[in-house]
Amino acid sequence: MPDMLHTLGRRGGPDTILGNSHVVRYDELKDPRTGASRAVSVTLEDGRVFTGDVLVGADGIRSKVRKQMVGETEPNYSEYTCYTGISDFTPADINVVGYRVFLGSAQYFVSSDVGGGKMQWYGFHKEPAGGKDAEGTRKARLLQIFGGWSDNVVDLIKATPEEDILRRDIYDRRPIFQWHEGRTVLLGDAVHAMQPNLGQGGCMAIEDAYELANDLTEAWDRVGGDASQFDSQAAFAKYQGSRMLRASTIHGMAGMAAFMASTYKVRGSVCGKGRMVCCLVASVGEMVLSPPCFCHPTGIPRGRIAHAPVHAEPVQDPSPRSRGRPDSHEIDHACCAWMGAWGKRAQH
Ligand SMILES: Cc1cc2nc3c(=O)[nH]c(=O)nc-3n(C[C@H](O)[C@H](O)[C@H](O)COP(=O)(O)OP(=O)(O)OC[C@H]3O[C@@H](n4cnc5c(N)ncnc54)[C@H](O)[C@@H]3O)c2cc1C
Repeated sequence: MPDMLHTLGRRGGPDTILGNSHVVRYDELKDPRTGASRAVSVTLEDGRVFTGDVLVGADGIRSKVRKQMVGETEPNYSEYTCYTGISDFTPADINVVGYRVFLGSAQYFVSSDVGGGKMQWYGFHKEPAGGKDAEGTRKARLLQIFGGWSDNVVDLIKATPEEDILRRDIYDRRPIFQWHEGRTVLLGDAVHAMQPNLGQGGCMAIEDAYELANDLTEAWDRVGGDASQFDSQAAFAKYQGSRMLRASTIHGMAGMAAFMASTYKVRGSVCGKGRMVCCLVASVGEMVLSPPCFCHPTGIPRGRIAHAPVHAEPVQDPSPRSRGRPDSHEIDHACCAWMGAWGKRAQH
């Protein structure tokens, strides 16, 4: 991020990027004679006002620009808080498994290879929003929550310095159908904040920015750079048209991934090689993420998505039995099933 800001500053001049600039409102400026829109202004918290041809509201899930455009609504709390960290740690099997999801009742854990010998991880725990940890206690709390899980989880937590562990409650928002108004347009979490489970929120924001830049450039070039003829409305409509379906679909899939990660049940049986075989049963209709067996002699593809007449109720509450469960071996299998379903082959 600092690199990107530096590049932007270099290309746009010294006043391109202003820190501490909290936008509180925007106003469409109209030609007093014709009533036609001629610019848009933003007012900052400290009273400064800036004027431009267009305003892009990329101000995140609690966007002030969105609030003014479509009205105040509260984001939806996912019921999960999330601890995150990056540790200098390379699992022994890093070459075959780059991404893992470990599932438990009312808690789950995700780890991802981010290169350079580092692993990023996320520990999700179901609890009310707004919880705070006393200074220096996050790691201890995580080890209390996940301490009895697989070494793949515990080692990562232990290898992360306390000061590098962050915590935030997870929210999303319902997608909206109005992405722009006058000379103002929304982008990223401001318009389609989603659950983090597919790692797509930031990607969608980047794609939005790319499409919007293209559409604005095209509209600008069409009128030969004549600001009085510039049709921002057409550019915004094109941008929304090309982005809304994709972003909303991924928003829905991210919600489904979060739902499955938080409402599963493990069913176990023992296969011919004496290994525990797990089905990851999600309460999405009758869909079952079901690897029949990872060491299946007939080589049934791992992590295939199967439809089976299984009915499962969502697990609502953390049962004491599932806390710190010693059978994280099973959870590892469920994790592999998850990845298989996403097309990456994990081996064990
Ligand atoms: C735990 C977790 C893991 C995630 N993992 C991934 C991942 O692996 N991959 C991925 O692609 N995405 C991931 N995401 C999602 C990603 O972080 C967001 O979707 C992304 O940051 C959205 O970018 P944005 O620019 O729209 O908003 P933000 O990143 O929220 O940026 C908004 C900016 O606007 C500023 N701002 C806010 N209000 C105002 C105001 N009134 N005036 C001026 N400025 C303002 C803020 O300070 C901030 O700098 C994850 C999210 C979470 C919570």
